[in-house]
Amino acid sequence: MNKMLILVVEDDAPIRNLITTTLKAHDYNYLSATLGETAILQASSHNPDVVLLDLGLPDMDGIEVIKKIRTWSNLPIIVISARSEDTDKIDALDAGADDYLTKPFSVEELLARLRVTQRRLAAAENQGAMQREFINGALRIDYVAGCAYLGEKELHLTPIEYKILCLLAKNVGRVLTHTFITQKIWGSSWDNDIASLRVFMATLRKKLDEGGDAPSYIQTHIGVGYRMQKL
Ligand code: CA
Repeated sequence: MNKMLILVVEDDAPIRNLITTTLKAHDYNYLSATLGETAILQASSHNPDVVLLDLGLPDMDGIEVIKKIRTWSNLPIIVISARSEDTDKIDALDAGADDYLTKPFSVEELLARLRVTQRRLAAAENQGAMQREFINGALRIDYVAGCAYLGEKELHLTPIEYKILCLLAKNVGRVLTHTFITQKIWGSSWDNDIASLRVFMATLRKKLDEGGDAPSYIQTHIGVGYRMQKL
């Protein structure tokens, strides 16, 4: 069932070997590249299901690789970056990356990210039939009526909370940066907007997690943004 094709782009041999060995052990198919230029070529010729992309490549910035791939494809891109490259991580997400892994990462973390992506791909495949509504665990958004429900109960959301919820739902499984969200909701991303976003997120999350022991729908990525988890 794991027969996804993963393109691994990493110039650091020990990390690349760790990744490819893990993929092999878990029955994923893979290709690997050490240069941005090669990665772009392989992405276009082999049409992989996921790209794992190091940001610091010898010939070009990984962010340029994302931008190039995004001119023709929406395929999931998971960025691999060092902890010191926090702003790069945000730039990468804004350029169209779906998720990130911070070095050093564990094999379990890598596999978890791939599973998230796999679920997101499966959800995207079903989306054609689900244009009118979105369902994730007990959460249901009726796009036609403009209402959201948790189980049988209607959620009483403000218009902004509803907009944020729809944006997160549309991108379920993806980490959205503060800038991305505020641009979509308010059309700007001043510090004030980001501060407001925090407040709206807190109230939205409270309403979503009212059920109590259910897992949280919205994950906070401190200093980066938010993600709706695919339950
Ligand atoms: Ca590197």
